[in-house]
Amino acid sequence: MTPRSGDQVPVLIVGGGPVGLALAGDLGWRGIRCLLIEQSDGAIYQPKMDLVGIRTMEHCRRWDIVKDVVGSPYPRDYPQDNVYLTSLGGYELGREPFPPLGEEKPPPVSPQKRERCPQNMFDPILRAFVARQPSVEVRYHAKLTELRFEGEGVTATVTDPRSGATNEVRSEFIAGCDGAHSTVREFLGIPMQGAPALTYTTNVIFRCAGLAARHPGRKSYRYIFVGPEGTWATIVAINGGDQWRMSIIGAETPRTLTTDDIHAAIARATGLQPPYEILSVVPWVRKELVAETYRKGPVFILGDSAHVMSPTGGYGMNTGIGDAVDLSWKLAAVLQGWGGDRLLDSFGAERRPIGVRNASEASRNLRRMLSPGRNEGLLDENEAGAALRRRVGTAMTEAMKHEWFTLGMHLGYRYENSPVCVPDGTPPLADDPRNYIPTSRPGSRAPHVWLADGRSTLDLFGRGFVLLRLGALAPDAQPLVQAARKTGMPLEVVALDEPAVTAAYERALVLVRPDGHVAWRGDEIGDAAAIIRTVCGLDVGAAAARGKQVQERVQ
Ligand SMILES: Cc1cc2nc3c(=O)[nH]c(=O)nc-3n(C[C@H](O)[C@H](O)[C@H](O)COP(=O)(O)OP(=O)(O)OC[C@H]3O[C@@H](n4cnc5c(N)ncnc54)[C@H](O)[C@@H]3O)c2cc1C
Repeated sequence: MTPRSGDQVPVLIVGGGPVGLALAGDLGWRGIRCLLIEQSDGAIYQPKMDLVGIRTMEHCRRWDIVKDVVGSPYPRDYPQDNVYLTSLGGYELGREPFPPLGEEKPPPVSPQKRERCPQNMFDPILRAFVARQPSVEVRYHAKLTELRFEGEGVTATVTDPRSGATNEVRSEFIAGCDGAHSTVREFLGIPMQGAPALTYTTNVIFRCAGLAARHPGRKSYRYIFVGPEGTWATIVAINGGDQWRMSIIGAETPRTLTTDDIHAAIARATGLQPPYEILSVVPWVRKELVAETYRKGPVFILGDSAHVMSPTGGYGMNTGIGDAVDLSWKLAAVLQGWGGDRLLDSFGAERRPIGVRNASEASRNLRRMLSPGRNEGLLDENEAGAALRRRVGTAMTEAMKHEWFTLGMHLGYRYENSPVCVPDGTPPLADDPRNYIPTSRPGSRAPHVWLADGRSTLDLFGRGFVLLRLGALAPDAQPLVQAARKTGMPLEVVALDEPAVTAAYERALVLVRPDGHVAWRGDEIGDAAAIIRTVCGLDVGAAAARGKQVQERVQ
């Protein structure tokens, strides 16, 4: 059923960027009715993100949109090298080679790999996914202008910026996915903590066919320009063809660039002289900020409204989509009557530390990119200059590996001290941004293993909880099944006797949540009711007390 103006909707999503779209799509995938409002017409004039991380691709796999990402117009044969150089016609200092997307293989720890799919290609894919969900309505030219708490729900005033016409939407929950300048966050009065200005940067998107040929080395995805004063700009192949995004990095103090400054910067980096087509110029401030809290009552913030980070590493949207996947099943659980309020509280408890983690690693990447610092003789055409360039190039190549090899960042995040995971007393593995070590320790992403029938273990997860019974001698699952049935928690038991899965999952019984994270594991069950109550964020009988319809999907 489609919500209409003035209707009540269970969930109102504010903001139709990638995070709002991901939340709407995932809620729709779960059959939850929601309305997404977006103040603009939805067109992307300055694509920001372009790296779709490996964990996001795993979510895309569940949403069945991998083929759309892979089939997006970004050329699959364009090399993905990162190169450090003084200018396209100058000295190459170092390089990290990467194959084109079409040649790269998934690592052994995942059925997917990261993809390059810029926002003007990725947002429409998410939008089409959302449009396929009958329980979701998306309204463009619809801006949240007021928010009032009334009773147990929230009333939002939505205004059409073109006409000024308003209407009211009442909902049980609001999800603020409205970006770095979030209106929702402002209404809630939630402060941001961290560094409000790392650099004042200017992004310039320009068109130039054949730009890569101006450098004699192999075509690259990203060019990072280092001068005697240090690292000063980057250029990325934003569509792998004729469009380029130059970021003039700037400094901690504001500076407005004139058109002449921009032409001079492009000429310095590329040798290109006007006329050529500049498509957009956007000054922005690089920040490392995380909201003090992600929830106030029935209102949540996620994505850039909850955390803003340097793009170095490509973590921003991917972190936001992780937020959306975490919040979606919890909202669904509460609306379906089997999840308790603690489940909603666990959203911030689980995701805020990940926001802090990812934002601080992004800033470390920025410092790595700026690490060459001043080198007065960098362009000197003599032996001392050549030696300096070798030194700078070697050090930068080494430092920048942290930004390019990030499996640990994307797959190794875990929900430590989550109120809805049951700890098993084992110590956490090291949180290494570069390397990911699969584990079934509660709070971690459940590991990927290929099954004998060709599926990934990840393909087993998504709708409800899944209890894996591993090996021929796995204990009887009935106590957990009975306890789940009492609360209405959807639980499927999957028995597998495949040695690779048994080894990777480390215990005979592993309970995996709808978002693919491990909630509990053990070789015996113990207090089944306590386990189920914890993972649903419930007190005994809370589901019944809410008087909601409990979905009987227990097997
Ligand atoms: C140069 C650059 C490169 C980047 N590269 C990457 C990358 O490779 N990978 C990555 O993961 N991240 C990257 N990021 C970060 C990424 O772009 C953001 O994290 C991501 O766009 C955040 O998505 P969002 O949906 O939370 O917010 P946004 O994309 O900002 O979307 C918010 C939406 O809310 C709407 N809105 C705002 N207020 C209202 C209101 N009151 N009512 C209705 N609608 C409203 C806005 O119009 C907007 O459409 C990059 C960022 C930059 C600047």
